[in-house]
Amino acid sequence: MHLTKDQVAGLAKKPRCPRCDFDKTMGSALCSSCRSQLPAHMRLDLVKIPSKDASLVARALRAAANYFNVHFQSVRNFGGGKKR
Ligand SMILES: [Zn+2]
Repeated sequence: MHLTKDQVAGLAKKPRCPRCDFDKTMGSALCSSCRSQLPAHMRLDLVKIPSKDASLVARALRAAANYFNVHFQSVRNFGGGKKR
């Protein structure tokens, strides 16, 4: 994932979280609900993103996406057994 400075500014201005469609705070990449599911060090890079380097924000978003994938994958495996 590559983000330009403009894309980061656009993401910061969006009123809704790109993950879950909840309302999110201006300047953050994800809503507080999504951020609360992430480890603290990941959350820091997803707030006040217009003041941060675009490549750092892109990296933080990718890390968050990976974290969510792994998390939800393990929840699925744990709760859903082998059903598909
Ligand atoms: Zn969210």
